[in-house]
Amino acid sequence: PEMVKSNFIHQEIDKDLAKNINDGVVLTRFPPEPNGYLHIGHAKSICLNFGLAQKYGGACNLRFDDTNPLKEDVEYVDSIMEDVRWLGFEWEGEEKYASDYFQQLYDWAVKLIKNGKAYVDDQSAEDIARQKGTPTQAGAESPCRNRPVQENLDLFERMKNGEFAAGRKVLRAKIDMASPNMHMRDPLMYRIIHSSHHRTGDDWCIYPMYDFAHGQEDFIEGITHSVCTLEFEVHRPLYNWFLDQIIEGDKDLMSRPRPRQIEFARLNLNYTVMSKRKLLELVEKEIVDGWDDPRMPTVSGLRRRGYTPESIRTFADKVGVARRDGVIDVALLESCVRDDLNKRVARVNAVIDPVKLIITNYPEGQEEWVEIENNPEDEAMGIRKLPFAREVYIERDDFMEDPPRKFFRLGPGREVRLKGAYAVTCTDYKKNANGEIEEIYCTYDPETKSGATTVSRKIKGILHWVAVNHALDAEVRMYDRLYNHEAPASQKDADHIDFINPDSLKVITAKVEPSLRDASVLDKFQFQRVGYFCVDRESTPQKLVFNRTVALRDSWAK
Ligand code: ATP
Ligand code: MG
Ligand code: MG
Repeated sequence: PEMVKSNFIHQEIDKDLAKNINDGVVLTRFPPEPNGYLHIGHAKSICLNFGLAQKYGGACNLRFDDTNPLKEDVEYVDSIMEDVRWLGFEWEGEEKYASDYFQQLYDWAVKLIKNGKAYVDDQSAEDIARQKGTPTQAGAESPCRNRPVQENLDLFERMKNGEFAAGRKVLRAKIDMASPNMHMRDPLMYRIIHSSHHRTGDDWCIYPMYDFAHGQEDFIEGITHSVCTLEFEVHRPLYNWFLDQIIEGDKDLMSRPRPRQIEFARLNLNYTVMSKRKLLELVEKEIVDGWDDPRMPTVSGLRRRGYTPESIRTFADKVGVARRDGVIDVALLESCVRDDLNKRVARVNAVIDPVKLIITNYPEGQEEWVEIENNPEDEAMGIRKLPFAREVYIERDDFMEDPPRKFFRLGPGREVRLKGAYAVTCTDYKKNANGEIEEIYCTYDPETKSGATTVSRKIKGILHWVAVNHALDAEVRMYDRLYNHEAPASQKDADHIDFINPDSLKVITAKVEPSLRDASVLDKFQFQRVGYFCVDRESTPQKLVFNRTVALRDSWAK
């Protein structure tokens, strides 16, 4: 693994280790709720948690926080495992599920009731919310707050047995309705949901709330450092309160490792939405082609777009771990994949907007093979042969009828080099009825073949090209940013959907060199002078499909 920058969480763990807390063990976890696909924010959390395990010779659990059957599905479980592995990490032992602990959590809830620390409330969620008070004003106590223990035990069991409809009863912790921390004002522990769970089926109809579930799950697994995002900082007193209650009076539980919650700033990216609810909306409204649409900030979308796991890990490391929220420029993510692909992928010739160039003094019917290096950044990637002939395609915008002096491409009377082949000079051109350039005529100089040492004149412009008779048609999906607003999710009186970039996908047919016939799904290339491209999963040898990962240069830079 790459070297990871030091961050404040390392310092906190170092302090714990110096005090020999938990006998020097470091066990972290990545705890996604299986209610959507992982996104780049999750990737940061994955790199952080698995990175801590690697750094301290510990381990990291993968735990599905599957406590809400209304939103969760096995499809998400499977995709999450695939994505974590693809990012290059392996979890400790079998994957874990919060639902495996439902009985234990229930038993602990009963313990709290018996100790007078929890009660069943008959009020509606709305009434309970209304009684919460404000940060400066104490909340009102529920009429159910002083229910006798025996009655609470009976009602909680009947909740579990399915005797009540959803919303008719909840279990609440009995803490302090005047606490300055709103989360300590008798928070909910359990609610009733009559819905089949993707793993436990209809075994349960009461489900623990996040606050009662998460810390206890950490405790059950022996997690030492429970790293989460900043919005949970205010939940930390509650996290610790519940742990205190469950170990209360139990020597065995008191001797076990006690997890410590540490918060870090979540990743926010400009031009991007990251909430799973909004991503699901994009999928359901068919604004994108599923969770793995190459414009989605999901791990599966980035993979399909052509990102490498290394580029995402590098990005996570560059972003670092902060204690205060901020917004990262998505250009940083794009530059990480650009730098990575620059080193690792072959250059190929693909003409995105083709126009025919005819070399009038090149013998008709003649063809030859020219040699071209695969990657000037890496000699070890070798060379390949390309067919060259009298007619080639070049990019339409590499020709101008009346070019300014500094246009180092083709124009009447100008000379350029066709990369890896010959220098050609434009002698004439033809337009169609619409005034578009249809053909460009050139002569070539046989003395200028690439590699030959005989040419002394300097030719500035070097164009990519594909021989007409050997060119393959390829569908190329020119992806751009999905939103055209820097902060699409946080505009007053506007919805993120209002800021969808209408040009986020343009589909074109390109002419590509014949070596690409055998390219397989996820193969990556630099289309010379154009950008980085990746073979889409819909590509076949009969119909090649490429996705643009990123342009060669950042066109959004101001
Ligand atoms: P969302 O708000 O997108 O629904 P979530 O936090 O509800 O995300 P979870 O599945 O609960 O999604 O997240 C799993 C883990 O990933 C949590 O520990 C969470 O803190 C972390 N995580 C989620 N989003 C980000 C983010 N943008 N940056 C860093 N970590 C994140
Ligand atoms: Mg969550
Ligand atoms: Mg969520």
